[in-house]
Amino acid sequence: MKILIPILGDQLSMSLASLRGVERDAAVVLMMEVWDEATYVRHHKKKIALIFSAMRHFAEALRADGWTVDYVELQAEGNTQSFTGEVQRAAQRHRATAVRVVAGSEYRVLEQQKGWAALTGLPVDILEDDRFVCSLPAFQAWAKGRRELRMEYFYRDMRLQTGLLMTADGKPVGGQWNFDHDNRKTPPRGLNYPAPERFEPDATTRDVLTLVADRFGSHFGDLEPFGLPVTRKQALTSLERFIATALPDFGRYQDAMIAGQDYLYHSSLSLCINLGLLSPLEVCQAAVAAFERGEAEINSVEGFVRQIIGWREYMRGMYWRDMPAFAERNALEATRPLPEFYWTGDTEMRCLAESVGQTKREAYAHHIQRLMVLGNFALLAGIDPKAISDWFLVVYFDAYEWVEMPNVIGMSQFADGGVIASKPYVSSGAYIDRMSDYCGRCRYDVKQKTGPDACPFNALYWNFLDRHEGRLSANPRMKNMYATWRRFDNDIKAAYRQSAATFLEGIEVAAEGWAK
Ligand SMILES: Cc1cc2nc3c(=O)[nH]c(=O)nc-3n(C[C@H](O)[C@H](O)[C@H](O)COP(=O)(O)OP(=O)(O)OC[C@H]3O[C@@H](n4cnc5c(N)ncnc54)[C@H](O)[C@@H]3O)c2cc1C
Ligand code: SF4
Repeated sequence: MKILIPILGDQLSMSLASLRGVERDAAVVLMMEVWDEATYVRHHKKKIALIFSAMRHFAEALRADGWTVDYVELQAEGNTQSFTGEVQRAAQRHRATAVRVVAGSEYRVLEQQKGWAALTGLPVDILEDDRFVCSLPAFQAWAKGRRELRMEYFYRDMRLQTGLLMTADGKPVGGQWNFDHDNRKTPPRGLNYPAPERFEPDATTRDVLTLVADRFGSHFGDLEPFGLPVTRKQALTSLERFIATALPDFGRYQDAMIAGQDYLYHSSLSLCINLGLLSPLEVCQAAVAAFERGEAEINSVEGFVRQIIGWREYMRGMYWRDMPAFAERNALEATRPLPEFYWTGDTEMRCLAESVGQTKREAYAHHIQRLMVLGNFALLAGIDPKAISDWFLVVYFDAYEWVEMPNVIGMSQFADGGVIASKPYVSSGAYIDRMSDYCGRCRYDVKQKTGPDACPFNALYWNFLDRHEGRLSANPRMKNMYATWRRFDNDIKAAYRQSAATFLEGIEVAAEGWAK
């Protein structure tokens, strides 16, 4: 009896379901670096290096824990460069009698796994990924029969289920579920921003960096400097550093954007959680423990916990609920190709240039940059949701389809017709000006509404509302915006339309080959 246990690149957890209850000498763990996965979209160089390095370190940790690991490097002779090909080869090599694997986090991968039994002629046990707080059947049960699938109600159930920030008699700590009214402040000048922990690459990481430079040199983004956490130990250090230095101000400044400050008070822990180096629950427990020690206030800790047991779990549930149709959603019938500046950062709009620039450098931008700058522009400009979704999947170190797609297609682009977001996340330049320091040194004037020097977000915003009046004006949360639009006289409306059209005509379209 030899059980083959394939472990995928985002399944780097010692507690993985496929490892539990298996005798070490009856199993071979298979880990594979394959071209198909690194290029089904042409991922950011840093992201490929992160995943390969974390995989190689995890293989070492498994070996140290007594497992036999068959690790197929990208350059290995005979590597078929696909999961399926490598599972077939390894099944023969090890004379496996069964395959035991945790379900892939992405629909595409799960579909491949479903074909393995027929291809190998072996029993293939596909186990549920139980590293999430809410199982997929539990999410389906929550969603069933509900008219509206709002995150806030799901989140409250997760608080009750986990007991996080709950009193002994089942009430939310602090008397409220949500403390966002204390958040969203603009940071005063001269704050000392904490920096996330960064790690000197060891020999394993350096090998990977050479490999990525060599084989993926034409992909988007800067490979070096590289200091991301690639082991569980480094992930725990990153968590400790966040709790000690950034969590106390996380809530207050979570919507702020400051040029040159890539992380502000955000954790950048998404990369560790999504790879499996940290569990979502342990991250939340660490934040709650800081609150209980009096080191962080309720608004920060509640806001942070909500992002993880609320938004993260909800997005996963929504992805699986609607796949594969989700990938095709385009409720606003947006068809414009992606602008070239999403890849080059070469635009006079400073908010976009800054956000793309740091994305290129770090493979990271925080939530508000993703939603209210990069996503907002794409939505206002009518960019094809598939094109912008592919971009988001390529460029971020935490991007896997299960979490990227519902955030982009659903939350950011309203392409699901309002299932995830109750109204489109659109704003004019005024919001970006309020929440950032970008506008002060922009070539455009955020106060001007139309004309060649006006902030393009202003005309695009009203043009968006105008274009979609038939679809959106009945939405109660859009009533005030449409009331304002309808009060404009016809000359003003025409000037907005003209300004938006002139600006959109001048956008250079992205060249082929950046994403795929
Ligand atoms: C258009 C768009 C695309 C996005 N794409 C991704 C993606 O590919 N991968 C990804 O992990 N997140 C994605 N997000 C969600 C969120 O922006 C990132 O999780 C967050 O910016 C990661 O940085 P952080 O760890 O510093 O987060 P923090 O601000 O420190 O938040 C803490 C944690 O909460 C979780 N979280 C917060 N918001 C969300 C959310 N909306 N969905 C899921 N988890 C959330 C993450 O695990 C994050 O680490 C996207 C959001 C938008 C608007
Ligand atoms: S003025 Fe407009 S384009 Fe320039 S940074 Fe501000 S919001 Fe962005």
